[in-house]
Amino acid sequence: MGLTLKEILYTFEKIENKIAYHKQFLTDLDAAIGDGDHGINLNKGFRVAKEKIKDRDFKDWGEIFKTVGMAIVSSVGGASGPLYGTAFMKASMLGKGKTEITMEDFRDILKVSIDGIKMRGKGEKGDKTMLDALIPAYDEVNYGIENNLSELNTLKNSVEAARNGVEYTKLIAARKGRASYLGDRSIGHQDPGATSSLMILEVVFDTVNELRS
Ligand code: ADP
Ligand code: MG
Repeated sequence: MGLTLKEILYTFEKIENKIAYHKQFLTDLDAAIGDGDHGINLNKGFRVAKEKIKDRDFKDWGEIFKTVGMAIVSSVGGASGPLYGTAFMKASMLGKGKTEITMEDFRDILKVSIDGIKMRGKGEKGDKTMLDALIPAYDEVNYGIENNLSELNTLKNSVEAARNGVEYTKLIAARKGRASYLGDRSIGHQDPGATSSLMILEVVFDTVNELRS
């Protein structure tokens, strides 16, 4: 993997593009079980983040993640802003003095992101949130590292696990966030936040696939 600072900036650019492309889809998902702003929120957050990291020299990826996290927290009003922002800011602490993201770093980024989101949102796996995509993805990255799978296979498996997690959110009722107000009526709908988390993971796989294969 060994993503350089330049490649990390490129990855964030691609995340912004993907979220922008799927803005309406994410918003429609949220309209069904929330207030219909998830795509708008994230599009804004990642757009501001992209502007803040543009044409800047960073000495390590900690600074990049911190800039992204702060941009998201300060520009997104919804629940997802502080949650994603916390995730990137927690991850930023791991990147101090580091100019590359290895597979082990990626695992640790997912770990502290999940812990940060859990701490901030008091949620768990099975609550129909972004955690239902992120936790299975983390488990696969961990599995791949421990079993010496190739990096591309590991990332591919993590995306697949997140996709299954998103599918699973259709079967369960929300216990956190606005969708929880609907109780069982949220069943049958996929969670917008889990879907955006899947999209971010897809970009990580696509980017490594593009740069390394
Ligand atoms: P809001 O709900 O404030 O309108 P968004 O629509 O941007 O914010 O984001 C909604 C998403 O945020 C949900 O689909 C869910 O994945 C995630 N979410 C909401 N509350 C929590 C929580 N407590 N823990 C983890 N994720 C949460
Ligand atoms: Mg919303």
